[in-house]
Amino acid sequence: MSVRVRFAPSPTGPLHMGGVRTALYNYLFAKKHHGVFLLRIEDTDQNRFVPGAGEYIMESLKWCGINHDEGPDTGGPYSPYLQSERKALYKDYALQLIGDGHAYYAFDTPAELEAMRKRLETEKSGNPQYDCQTRMHMNNSLTLPPDEVKRRIDAGEAHVIRIKIPEGQEVVVNDLIRDQVRVDSRLLDDKVLFKSDGMPTYHLANVVDDYLMKITHVIRGEEWLPSAPLHVLLYRYLGWKESMPEFAHLPLLLKPDGHGKLSKRDGDRLGFPVFPLEWKDPSSGEISPGYRESGYFPEAFVNMLALLGWNPGTEQEIFTMKELTEAFSLERVGKSGARFDPDKAKWFNHQYLQQKDPEDIAALFIEQLKKHGHQASGKKLARIISLVRDRVNFVDEIWDQAAFFFEPPESYDEKFAKKKWKAGTPDILLQLVEMLRDIEPFDTGHIEKALHAFMEEKEIGAGQIMPGLRLALVGAGRGPDVKEIMSVLGKDEVKRRIQRVVDRLGKNGRSS
Ligand code: GLU
Repeated sequence: MSVRVRFAPSPTGPLHMGGVRTALYNYLFAKKHHGVFLLRIEDTDQNRFVPGAGEYIMESLKWCGINHDEGPDTGGPYSPYLQSERKALYKDYALQLIGDGHAYYAFDTPAELEAMRKRLETEKSGNPQYDCQTRMHMNNSLTLPPDEVKRRIDAGEAHVIRIKIPEGQEVVVNDLIRDQVRVDSRLLDDKVLFKSDGMPTYHLANVVDDYLMKITHVIRGEEWLPSAPLHVLLYRYLGWKESMPEFAHLPLLLKPDGHGKLSKRDGDRLGFPVFPLEWKDPSSGEISPGYRESGYFPEAFVNMLALLGWNPGTEQEIFTMKELTEAFSLERVGKSGARFDPDKAKWFNHQYLQQKDPEDIAALFIEQLKKHGHQASGKKLARIISLVRDRVNFVDEIWDQAAFFFEPPESYDEKFAKKKWKAGTPDILLQLVEMLRDIEPFDTGHIEKALHAFMEEKEIGAGQIMPGLRLALVGAGRGPDVKEIMSVLGKDEVKRRIQRVVDRLGKNGRSS
């Protein structure tokens, strides 16, 4: 039997990073087993539908490289993949359940349901829910005479269809991550399967579609574990026990500090995105940041997510999508929640920034450079990027580290100058300027040799020349190797900068 898995988000808002991880694990599992990964949009809850959310989900997955084989945009043998377009097919299954005595019509109005809840709360008789204890006191096809039920339906009275949860049974969910989860059926409520608006609820549509789409493994977030016993019963009652998929409920993503599920509020509070892409709430206009817009590489984001809940069993942390596909297994997904660490997310981006072809980074950096009014060839930029990238996590941090390659220092770090600029420094630097003339070609190797020769001839140590030279070129005591900086700047610019620092700092090292 070939593996078929699905990611089945509801378009009720932007996709949380936990949702992206669910999609990723499904994708990796499918690819590992040479199976199919499909995307199904579960949009049957019209009250919670948010315009643009479906498109957002698809764009997010695309950005991450989590590509589906079947879906609303790509089509496939089990089309349509948008549940609202499948509306017509669910009702028959609900009616089948009624016919077999596993479901019933319920006519209770919202006020009646509320009254039931209030009554049970004051009686303190367990869960105030519609279940085997309460159903016989309500208005439904189990309590009303058949002709009355028919009359009400024919008259178009609002009604729903509820599952009839069996009494006193133990429902067993076999979970690949949690082993066996056993639930006493008395704790389950008679969930609505079909609503008065003619739409199925999540539970019915989800199970019917998983069956019709031949899903072999349901891999989803832990928040769906409480619904799994109901789904197991639905498979049984619909006569699909043999084709029931295997379940794997993934651990929650936890807050970086403290306990509980990672939420958007944690992101706002601690300053990191929880969504893959920027999201503008269509009703409030509020903008939530995205990983993409914050400068993360999709590979880094995906790599980070892969390790939040799954571990490869080795020390390896950097994985390409292909490597993840080969290494992934549900056996190595943990049971306990995975704490999200925003610094680790940055660390992953840093790693990818070091690994990437500098020319590719140059193509991204060039936009920033233009904003600062400069231009440079891709080759030159690639060289500069190679020199400074170990100091940054994001492309937009490069300018701060590389600005001196494009603009001579406006000022000189006073603290550094005070410590390192000596009365003899101007003289030494000016003598160096003389010597620069002979360095040909002006590349790192020749510069290094010449500097050595110069120090030997003048009988001075590196400490007497290098700090001053660095101050001249960078304006501070930081930056990459001085020889590299010199060769990028070129002979004339190095001379100009030395003259400039000497003019400004003179013998006492204080800017004039
Ligand atoms: N539509 C559900 C959601 O929003 C799908 C849950 C499942 O995968 O069964 O997450």
